[in-house]
Amino acid sequence: MAKLIRGISEDGGVLFCALDSTEIVREAERIHKPSAVVSAALGRLLTAASMMGVMLKSEQDSVTLRVKGGGPAGLLIAVSDGSGNVRGYVENPTVHLPSRADGKLDVGGVVGRDGTLSVVKDLGLKEPYVGQVPLVSGEIAEDITAYYAASEQTPTVCALGVLVDRDLSILAAGGYLAQLLPGADEADIDRLEKNIASMPSVTTLLREGGTPQSMMEQVLSGLAPQCLMEKDVCYRCTCSRARTERMLLSLKTSELEELAADGKPIEVCCQFCDKKYRIDAAALLQSRKEAASQEK
Ligand SMILES: [Zn+2]
Repeated sequence: MAKLIRGISEDGGVLFCALDSTEIVREAERIHKPSAVVSAALGRLLTAASMMGVMLKSEQDSVTLRVKGGGPAGLLIAVSDGSGNVRGYVENPTVHLPSRADGKLDVGGVVGRDGTLSVVKDLGLKEPYVGQVPLVSGEIAEDITAYYAASEQTPTVCALGVLVDRDLSILAAGGYLAQLLPGADEADIDRLEKNIASMPSVTTLLREGGTPQSMMEQVLSGLAPQCLMEKDVCYRCTCSRARTERMLLSLKTSELEELAADGKPIEVCCQFCDKKYRIDAAALLQSRKEAASQEK
């Protein structure tokens, strides 16, 4: 299980969330078998989505992050429910790029910088909330910060990190979000900036035994942080046979007939968890015909 914490500074000016997402990114690695640099890109997006999910009002809400940057990885998607349980997808998981001159994985290069981050929040209303910003760097954390500034007018610091071993296993992954609320004053902002400037990277902190709790104590040092909530979150898909059948039933009759033409069951593979469903298209068609004749 991955560990998540939410907290707030004593004066109510800074809202905080941190996550040790190592187990989540390990599960994503097991499912999608990405290259190291794509693991880092998808892992950062999953980490951000989980924290943004848990900050939604209700556990029934959900948030979807879509990054399309024109890079070789193609489209990246991460979806979180309102509890912070998250799932993800990447179009081209196995593409490689050489590391950057500083030795770091070239996440911005594989994601691309020529495109957008879109954020869709389903808050149980008639229409979902949709915000979209141009990518800043494709490094994900900066793009999340830009989203909050432009779409939600909330100054936000976002740090995300994924450390991948030579054998592609995930050594550590995590991140934090710190947001300035209307109650924040100049002293809060100065303090936050100084604290963050003196901290090592998220993955270094985690490798040295750090936890979401200790990240909060460091980022909000001097601001008397208080824990609002601690919880376990995980990589979790919401697919099911019933959902897959409903998805197929949303196709036109002619399309469904085409799929049923050879008489064999259709195999539908979930893009988020790789689970395969074998569905009898002819039976679906039959049930649609029966439903239609009952309506008459
Ligand atoms: Zn699934």
